Amino acid sequence: MIARDRRAADRAAIDCQERALSGVALVNISKTYDNGARAVSDLSLEVADGELMVIVGPSGSGKTTVLRLIAGLEKLTEGEVRIGGRLANQLDPKDRDVAMVFQDYALYPHMTVRRNIAFPLVMRKVPRQEIKQRVERVVELLGIGELLNRKPHVLSGGQQQRVALGRAIVREPAVFLFDEPLSNLDAGLRITTRAEIKALQVRLGTTTIYVTHDQEEAMTLGDRVAVMCDGKLHQVDTPARLYGHPKNRFVASFIGAPPINLLDGRIERKGDRLIFVEGPDETSDGAKHLILHKGWHKSVEPLVGSRVLLGLRPQAMSAPSRGTAGDRQNTIDVTIDHVEMLGEQMDVIGQTQFQSRLVARIAAREDFPASGTVKLRVDTRKLHFFEPDAFGRNLLS
Ligand code: ADP
Repeated sequence: MIARDRRAADRAAIDCQERALSGVALVNISKTYDNGARAVSDLSLEVADGELMVIVGPSGSGKTTVLRLIAGLEKLTEGEVRIGGRLANQLDPKDRDVAMVFQDYALYPHMTVRRNIAFPLVMRKVPRQEIKQRVERVVELLGIGELLNRKPHVLSGGQQQRVALGRAIVREPAVFLFDEPLSNLDAGLRITTRAEIKALQVRLGTTTIYVTHDQEEAMTLGDRVAVMCDGKLHQVDTPARLYGHPKNRFVASFIGAPPINLLDGRIERKGDRLIFVEGPDETSDGAKHLILHKGWHKSVEPLVGSRVLLGLRPQAMSAPSRGTAGDRQNTIDVTIDHVEMLGEQMDVIGQTQFQSRLVARIAAREDFPASGTVKLRVDTRKLHFFEPDAFGRNLLS
């Protein structure tokens, strides 16, 4: 190989390595604010190069703090932040090669759209001609050519959001950090904009960490989703696995809408069958029970005699078609409080003998009663079993 070819090959190998390294690793990070608030506790998370990782959790769970720690806007109490394989703990925000998009867009009101987008490059003293080319590329990518000479106050929320996105993209950073970027938009625009962000992220292939409190947004956007509560990470998984195999009752309740129903009860053996008997103690007689699908037997066998929380998704119930034996067997009695019509589907909100609220999302039927007690069929292939304590570990995964 002649020297020039070898140099090119070496360069390609280095480029490749650098690309492979532009992920983010959080290693046992914690943050306690000066007022004593413990916002993040011993959290570890690896975001692969090019991945779109969504961090989701209720308000106050520490999501924004995690982003600010990655960006260098807050100091770590413990742990390591690695960006592109490099320890970033001591790096200034401007040296971390990350671009953050905030909820309130934080555009400069006195600057035009063009200058807002160019601003990060001006600050970095990028040559004028290059700034011009990079701004043009971003403007074309986002389709905002007609806005270039306007000031932020005359733009709609959606347009401002795009400009904020443009200002992040123009930097060509190693990592994008998004902090609830859609929460100021109305519902319709949120859905179209999130699809655009997803498409843009795939196209640019830039490692992205996206924070939201909205589980639907998390599920539709994320390659993987990290679920946080009270400063702790509960589970990191693909959207499908989070829904199908939640690690504990918090994840099960937070992911999926309407939230999963949790029914107190116990597993028993009845002949060659395993059954779930609802009720808070041993006094419930078991006359009404669910027969567990045979597919569960091997994994549920060790739980015979134990108290469990049964996780029953609203979508795992349906209105029985009249008269078949199977229908009579695996049903639960629900006393209807009210019914909410959604179009193709409807939510039946009611109570079981022991549960003060249960929601079933079933196919809409005009003849469905608005009150009284109905038998709803349960798909016993789609159940979850949790420990009955506050943490509620999933007993089967
Ligand atoms: P989230 O983004 O999930 O809503 P945050 O990261 O904003 O959560 O907040 C996590 C916890 O840290 C909350 O209890 C919040 O009150 C606290 N917190 C956030 N920022 C500060 C701060 N600058 N000083 C003191 N406490 C803070």
